[in-house]
Amino acid sequence: MYIDGKWKAGNSDFAVTNPATGEVIGRVPDANEHDIEAAVAAADIAFADWKKTTAYQRSELLYRAWELMVRQKSQLAELMTREQGKPLKASLNEVQYGADFLLWFAEEAKRMYGQIIPSARENQRFLVHKSPVGVVGAITPWNYPISMITRKLAPALAAGCTVILKPAESTPLCARAMMEIFDEAGFPPGVINLLTVQNPSRVGEVFCTDPRVRKLTFTGSTQVGKELNGLAATNMKRVSMELGGHAPAIVFPDADPVHAAKGLSLVKFLNTGQACISPNRIFVHEDHAEPFIQELTSRASRLKAGNGLENGIGIGPLINELAVGKVDGQVKDAISRGAKVHTGGQRLTEKGLSGGYFYAPTVLSGVTEPMRIYREETFGPIAPVITYRSEKDVIAMANDTEYGLAAYIYSNDIGTAMRAFEALDFGIIGINDINPTSAAAPFGGLKNSGLGREGAQEGIEEYLETKLGGFAI
Ligand code: NAD
Repeated sequence: MYIDGKWKAGNSDFAVTNPATGEVIGRVPDANEHDIEAAVAAADIAFADWKKTTAYQRSELLYRAWELMVRQKSQLAELMTREQGKPLKASLNEVQYGADFLLWFAEEAKRMYGQIIPSARENQRFLVHKSPVGVVGAITPWNYPISMITRKLAPALAAGCTVILKPAESTPLCARAMMEIFDEAGFPPGVINLLTVQNPSRVGEVFCTDPRVRKLTFTGSTQVGKELNGLAATNMKRVSMELGGHAPAIVFPDADPVHAAKGLSLVKFLNTGQACISPNRIFVHEDHAEPFIQELTSRASRLKAGNGLENGIGIGPLINELAVGKVDGQVKDAISRGAKVHTGGQRLTEKGLSGGYFYAPTVLSGVTEPMRIYREETFGPIAPVITYRSEKDVIAMANDTEYGLAAYIYSNDIGTAMRAFEALDFGIIGINDINPTSAAAPFGGLKNSGLGREGAQEGIEEYLETKLGGFAI
């Protein structure tokens, strides 16, 4: 753990395993009640001085952390592949994406502008000032174990907040590596603190109830997000919630189905489908289903599964046994209700894969509403294809979900694309674009996908309070 600028062992610890092999790759401290209290106290005390630093001082520290991160890109990526399982090239991309947030918010720190507002009264002036929220509790997931940390910490630190980070129990080593970077960059003691813990519920409770913590920022499942949001609400905390998704991808009849299949196979199988913006329902016009499915199947069946540190690996493992069970359960349910398997459809245990949590890249067609996969987030390498007849039908089907994070459209007609963009109830929409994410662009969802936005200009607002001064002169 890293508390008040010092590394700390715990009274007990827990193991971290490589999901590709099942091998134990490290042990980390298991925070107890006293450690949690020490971290909250350190962040609270540090806030008094940190909030008085200038934006230029905070910017310089973030910039230094960015430099260190870029310099250590390959070591961080290798650690990520060992701990989380994604192929090395994908880990390198994630480290770069993670570093981008440090640089972006090093710059945005200097643009926390206030306002002077004209008053209706001659002898009055209004001044609007932005100030940091205070101590922030940050809870991050395992699927993007570095970028989800910087996407929260960079804007919080830029704004002048202090932070306690609780990473996912499957990927604490990436969090520890990031803490080493922040430590080396020279952030003062207590400004950033790390609690690794096997059972996260007590930390979550403290973040939502302790009066010294002013804000909770959470990325994870909708179920846990809702529980924490409820508790935070009763204690009047600020929250940001980046939750689950069930992204539709629509291939319109004017698009090239082969080109669309190429793009959607890349984004579907990225990170073994363990992404909140992964396409979960692929809607293809019935006239184009055949060439689309053929191309998608051919690409999925050629992906080589294995340990992401080896050459030529296109798809890594799922995170754990539970994830394999969930994915397999959805596939079996779909088959039992009439879906057709074009490739995959089972766990992979041959050719040295038996120690890990591998599932074959899978293409299903004939997916219909009664199937679980039609409604539930999958978080695995399954591409369910659903056919449709009209634009009106497909927009209604795409919006028919409790989630509202990402959506994808393939169309070569500007009118169709614009109508779909406007009609889809999602926070992020890729139009002939499979990667609509960047530190410069607002990331977040509608409905049960969450509250607030990360990245972009809006990202820093999540960590700022607005203070009004009314001056009678
Ligand atoms: P999860 O909710 O189980 O865990 C996420 C984090 O919450 C972990 O750090 C975990 O330790 C912690 N946590 C779990 N229970 C807790 C509790 N009671 N109190 C406090 N903390 C608790 O989710 P997961 O399965 O690890 O992650 C996958 C989910 O995250 C998916 O639903 C995915 O869509 C979502 N996700 C969303 C985004 C986004 O930006 N919207 C990004 C990545 C992942």
